[in-house]
Amino acid sequence: MRGWIVVVAILAWGCAKPKPVGYTRFPQALIPPPGSDTTPASTPSIPPAAGVRNSVPLAIRPTVPPTAEVAPAAPAAPATLPGVAATPAVDPEPWTPIVAWSRSRGLPTPEILAGSRAVRIGGIVHHLGFEPVDQGGAVCIHPLDRIKTFEPLLQPTVWPSPRTVVLDPGHGGSQAGTRSLTGNRFEKDLTLDWALRLKPLLEARGWTVHLTRTNDLDLPLTDRVRMAETLRAGLFISLHFNSSFPSTQARGLETYCLTPCGMASTTTRVYADDAGATHPNNRHDEANLLLARRIHRHVLAATGTADRGIRRARFMEVLRGQDRPAVLVEGGFLSNPDESRAINTPAYRQRLAEGVARALE
Ligand SMILES: [Zn+2]
Repeated sequence: MRGWIVVVAILAWGCAKPKPVGYTRFPQALIPPPGSDTTPASTPSIPPAAGVRNSVPLAIRPTVPPTAEVAPAAPAAPATLPGVAATPAVDPEPWTPIVAWSRSRGLPTPEILAGSRAVRIGGIVHHLGFEPVDQGGAVCIHPLDRIKTFEPLLQPTVWPSPRTVVLDPGHGGSQAGTRSLTGNRFEKDLTLDWALRLKPLLEARGWTVHLTRTNDLDLPLTDRVRMAETLRAGLFISLHFNSSFPSTQARGLETYCLTPCGMASTTTRVYADDAGATHPNNRHDEANLLLARRIHRHVLAATGTADRGIRRARFMEVLRGQDRPAVLVEGGFLSNPDESRAINTPAYRQRLAEGVARALE
């Protein structure tokens, strides 16, 4: 019943329910500016105007130890894996004083990373859609960030039944992906090896595992999505490696899910980041985040690499059309000499596989 109430609320607020194909426009002007506690503004507020940002610098807040887990709050709402109903992408409430809000719900005190849209929650970096603001000395976050990043952390993870997952080794065939700075290895080969190592680890945990490719094959992104649909997969995990070439400095793990409707993406690349767009996979926003967080946390623990955060993007075609929780993992930078050397070793790729497998326990 509660799910239906949520759906009705969405329709009432006008955020387009994801359609099977394509995307629809998001009606704007539903998010009040900071400080507003009345009805939504009549002018578009996504993304926020420059004026909404308070000039008071945000202090770095104390954080919990990096190994801390997010304590689930009671009572827990129904399962969100796999999600079937769209969730509200807008909320008439004002910006939320997030430290007090988190404490009241048993979440770790979030560490606000000053001058950015990033927060660290329970030791894990999350990139938000809007930069937090200071209101009367309290760090406040946008309602969409509360709904799409903080509130999902109060939910338990419930796996699909049956446990079926599609692993997607990025690239293949003529699409080699990026090239390792050391060892002259291609991303397409390293992602396939990662997936082949991961498959038996997941099978041992009771998952039925399908790979989008098991050899050096050209495979369009649409075929990867279609395969997951045909197999009625409960989850979809795309495996990639990163590059910042010609810069060789960047290193670390990034885990992506689709940007919720109304929010700015963390990463845009060449794809127009239309904050008003909603895609089929947006009906799994909360489950996407929970899956991304689990994988991100366990791969960080397994590899010890740097935490570049859980990010959101719209340009990833392999995620947009998925009608199931779906994430894309960038397992490290092949453009970084140290990290590329590590990724070139079978032992490190085994750790990458074990990290993802532990996330799905
Ligand atoms: Zn890639």
